[in-house]
Amino acid sequence: MGKTLRNKKSRRRTTIFIAGGVMSGVGKGVATASLGALLKARGLRVTAVKIDPYLNVDPGTMNPTEHGEVFVTKDGLETDQDLGNYERFLDEDLGRENSITSGLVFQTIINRERSMGYGGKTVEWVPDVPLEIIGRIKAAAEAADADVTLVEIGGTVGEYQNLLYLEACRMMRLEHPGDVLVALVSYLPVPGNVGEMKTKPTQYAVRSLNSAGLQPDLIICRSSVPIDAPRKRKLSVSCNVAPEDVIACPDVESIYAVPMMLEQEGAANEVVKKLKFKKTKADGEQWRSLVHRIKASTKPLKIGVVGKYFSTGDFTLTDAYLSVLEAIKHSCWHEHRRPEIVWLNSEDFEKNPAKVAPTLKALDGIIVPGGFGSRGVQGKLLAIKYAREHKMPYLGLCYGMQMALIEIARDVLGWKDANTTEINPETSHPVIHLMDEQQKKMEDRNYGGTMRLGDYPCVLKRGSKARELYDAEIVQERHRHRYEANPQYRKDLESTGVVFSGMSPDDKLAEIMELKNHPFFMASQFHPELTSRPFRPNPLFLGFIKAAAKRKK
Ligand code: GLN
Repeated sequence: MGKTLRNKKSRRRTTIFIAGGVMSGVGKGVATASLGALLKARGLRVTAVKIDPYLNVDPGTMNPTEHGEVFVTKDGLETDQDLGNYERFLDEDLGRENSITSGLVFQTIINRERSMGYGGKTVEWVPDVPLEIIGRIKAAAEAADADVTLVEIGGTVGEYQNLLYLEACRMMRLEHPGDVLVALVSYLPVPGNVGEMKTKPTQYAVRSLNSAGLQPDLIICRSSVPIDAPRKRKLSVSCNVAPEDVIACPDVESIYAVPMMLEQEGAANEVVKKLKFKKTKADGEQWRSLVHRIKASTKPLKIGVVGKYFSTGDFTLTDAYLSVLEAIKHSCWHEHRRPEIVWLNSEDFEKNPAKVAPTLKALDGIIVPGGFGSRGVQGKLLAIKYAREHKMPYLGLCYGMQMALIEIARDVLGWKDANTTEINPETSHPVIHLMDEQQKKMEDRNYGGTMRLGDYPCVLKRGSKARELYDAEIVQERHRHRYEANPQYRKDLESTGVVFSGMSPDDKLAEIMELKNHPFFMASQFHPELTSRPFRPNPLFLGFIKAAAKRKK
């Protein structure tokens, strides 16, 4: 990485707010993360905060098809998938302070008011709400000791629920002149019947920002093709932004190509100039070689992901499995393989079990990711049985480990009603059961943020495949579950060839199971996908991909 630019004595905190224009889902998170990566490559210390304007305190209680993946930080916050993008691009662990929701902001304000924290004065929408938001942004900057804090406001400008966040931005800008920038990540459509890129929706988005008292310093133009010179000029003139601050950011094959694309467009140089940091050349070697490696990975590897959180109306979304997808990619590229991911709806297997074998036969490896509840479970069990019996590489993630143990209990030990008490509390073989500390929480309907969350240590058994892959005795991985493998059945399961190769230090909780006499059958109670990074694939994923590649040969 580049030389450090930070002047230790004056440690100035600067902030870049990133707002969305025209529509959501155009890659604002990736643009934010990429800009952060470029600033970090210049030796600046960077952190990123995601603002989600909804009233839920966190997304932990939301349905995955509604919200997409719940990312978990090492300190156990259930949060938005953009935090995952920030961690992957910045290669930094983030924490609780990196996420703000309206639910959290209002909860804090109301609790403070109830305990006389406002000293009896009237608590107002403005300035009290923006002040709470600003306090949180500053706390995140302090926690990371950051030169630059990127603050991404979810959704788009003009949405009612974003107003107080824009107001926070305005107040912060007033308080710290020269230290707060605003970037608009906007979408420029090329309507099929017109055949021309249209800038007008972006102009309206800028008007919206203007009416909130804000002028963008930078407009990042998301579009299918790069914005051309005449349209750059048009946006520049109509939106009051210098032409060099209108940044092209067209669709690219991989999100990991975005940093170098923004670098070529001069986005980070403009930011450095505006924030008056000393100009240095970015060390972009890592990113360049990653893009190169992705392009060179041509031999395909077919990985099936058997899940259920896919459908919203007529559309199929794989958002709920974002980190799983990224983790597969990281390991594939490491092995110079092109990932070909086959999304398999476990409910289809359930309805039509005859489909299981022909579908799975064509794959090189199978993953059963995390999940909740009974829908689709039968289909997952069928896929696991296939992987076990046909020596197909298998990786189970959380529910995928619980399901693997249930499958073995049913089909190898012959306990036909073996189950998790999450699905059948009356089962005579509760192979998976509720953790002790969870019992009371469930009775009290205390669901928010109460699972076993975040980093916990896992001791790896000598001589096991897991130990070989991690090449360590003890590792920390991230969790999000209420149920666990019931220790009562450990011996029986071991008699079938199961090895509990990762355990909690007190030897109570099973963290990893693997199978003897199988080329690769590994499952973890934690979520290894959450710690996989483009430059540092997670060892369990890497082992799985290597086994899949070997099988293909
Ligand atoms: N439903 C399971 C539990 O709560 C697994 C959770 C998950 O896969 N994240 O333990």
